[in-house]
Amino acid sequence: MKNIVATIDALAEEFPDNLVYQSETESFTYQTLRQSSDSLASFLQHHLKTKAPVVVYGELEFEMLAAFLAVSKTGVAYIPIEANTPQERVELILNVAQPQLIIAVDDWPSALETELTIVTPLDLQQIFQAKVENFVATPVTRDENYYIIFTSGTTGVPKGVQISHDNLSSFLNWDLQDFGIASGKRFLSQAPYSFDLSVMSIYPALTSGGTLVPMDKTIINDFPKLFSFLPSLDLNIWVSTPSFMDICLMEKDFDGEHVPSLEIFQFCGEELTRKTAEELLRRFPNAKIFNTYGPTEATVAISQVLITPEILTKYDRVPIGYVKEDTELLIIDEDELQLADQIGEIVIKGPSVSKGYLNNPEKTAAAFLTIDGVPAYKTGDSGKLTVDGLLEYEGRIDFQVKLHGFRIELEDIDHHLEKVSYVKQATVVPKYQDHKVQQLVAFVVANSNDFAKDYQLTKAIKAELSQGVMDYMIPQKFIYVDQIPRTTNGKIDRKGLINEVNRP
Ligand code: AMP
Repeated sequence: MKNIVATIDALAEEFPDNLVYQSETESFTYQTLRQSSDSLASFLQHHLKTKAPVVVYGELEFEMLAAFLAVSKTGVAYIPIEANTPQERVELILNVAQPQLIIAVDDWPSALETELTIVTPLDLQQIFQAKVENFVATPVTRDENYYIIFTSGTTGVPKGVQISHDNLSSFLNWDLQDFGIASGKRFLSQAPYSFDLSVMSIYPALTSGGTLVPMDKTIINDFPKLFSFLPSLDLNIWVSTPSFMDICLMEKDFDGEHVPSLEIFQFCGEELTRKTAEELLRRFPNAKIFNTYGPTEATVAISQVLITPEILTKYDRVPIGYVKEDTELLIIDEDELQLADQIGEIVIKGPSVSKGYLNNPEKTAAAFLTIDGVPAYKTGDSGKLTVDGLLEYEGRIDFQVKLHGFRIELEDIDHHLEKVSYVKQATVVPKYQDHKVQQLVAFVVANSNDFAKDYQLTKAIKAELSQGVMDYMIPQKFIYVDQIPRTTNGKIDRKGLINEVNRP
């Protein structure tokens, strides 16, 4: 693919009236996307002084896409931040990223003080209306950062994964080709834009003349509405976590008969359980169902496998795919390259591997390397390759977990939990079912307090914790103890606690 921005603009030229975005209440064409992004980019060209990134703050609105594209047209990277992100976390991100401007599609919280210029929702409306003449884009290209997505970090400070134009381009070439995505398709857009799974909807849609169909939280949290809504969306390409699919499968009429438009399912971000895979094959016998795998650091996903009855007969646990053509997988154990069927850490080597974490040389050096001049990333995932190159997942070698597809470093929660005024010490562990985290359990040594009951203490802790971490990082269960068990060398015995909560 040539330049991504140029590709999107060329589609707007060729198919101006095609829908690029259609929500329950609004529709926008490619022409509107082009005009809005040109107007905003022209405004930005006058206001951006450096190559520092721009924060784009909001939910799944069309204006978010127009803002992303506008920023890309000025040659700098954007950082998507979801509007409900707690204040402390936004501050940490701003601190690391040192952005030069904020585009607020949703109102920027007044409590979040900043000296940066904020383009408000009202400013945006006016800017989008202004017609620009002779606009010349200076689009992001080659190794320049296209976007930076922040993800949980073990120290409690989020890490910003820098994805370049060429990283994204490597992903897109694979996604459009290997999944057989034709032009003009309708894509589900469900993942928050601050989560890299959303990239699997946004850019394949925008570079193939497709339409993004957003499903925001108000619908997802209202089951009767969700279930009546699904068939009406006329979706062709389904992109989601398996967890979101599990919710949709609760509706018994969600199947190929009632939703015949669905052609391709792409799952990513967490384990696709056998149970979900079997159910999908039963309900959608004519669709193609793919399990895909990859970390944000290697641009969304790098391997895929078509789920068939044969695959499920052959493998107990659903495999995570064949690596894309331009990339290589190495299985490493104690610095030794492993042979087929031997377990080790999955190392990804190829053109979609990020240059590292923004302004964080230490964490970058710990996870990224170059092999024969090609960038590589140590995933922290454990796995093995079959003789014919199919990758199988075995779990993590550290304390990162996935809950409903969201990536969480358990130490990140510990860090913020220990800052809560009622907490002396704390450790969080996952409770699993079918290889998937069902619940986060916190073991807490509490400071002396006046609460009569534990549940009152828990409520107070949760309220304070929610100021520092995302909703999905708040443990569901709290167990109060006198002390946290330690290993013989004095470290917190997290493995012992994990065994304790997962004992059958
Ligand atoms: P993220 O950076 O949020 O995409 O998370 C990446 C991590 O999610 C990987 O390192 C894996 O641990 C996990 N993951 C992603 N896809 C899969 C999959 N198909 N099966 C199992 N785990 C997955």
